[in-house]
Amino acid sequence: MEDCIFCKIAAREIPATVIYEDDDVLAFEDLNPQTPVHVLLIPKQHYHSLSDDIPPEVLGKLFARVRTVAELMGVDERGYRVIVNKGDDGRQTVFHLHIHILGGATMPISMGPAD
Ligand code: 5GP
Ligand code: ZN
Repeated sequence: MEDCIFCKIAAREIPATVIYEDDDVLAFEDLNPQTPVHVLLIPKQHYHSLSDDIPPEVLGKLFARVRTVAELMGVDERGYRVIVNKGDDGRQTVFHLHIHILGGATMPISMGPAD
């Protein structure tokens, strides 16, 4: 999709530190990491958000690769947090579906609303 930053990363039109790639998905480091390990995992095909009509096999392939990324980043054993933001309340800022994989530190207990 035109003017989508993650489509451009998938097309290698703008640079990113790629962690994993196959025919369907791409994983790359977040530009503004919130934790020592912060990787974004995307379907190469453009979907706006989790509310799109996404074929179950696309979601399956995407989520199946979380473990692959975690292993490559060395956080699979100690654990990690997975976040998918959706819309304004979810604080989604890039409207190409993506999974945040956060690790390398113990996450805060709270996942509630901002103060
Ligand atoms: P969201 O808030 O939409 O769930 O997360 C978007 C994420 O994309 C943010 O964590 C932000 O740091 C990251 N991001 C935004 N632009 C770029 C970019 O050009 N390259 C990379 N690698 N990450 C980006
Ligand atoms: Zn896109």
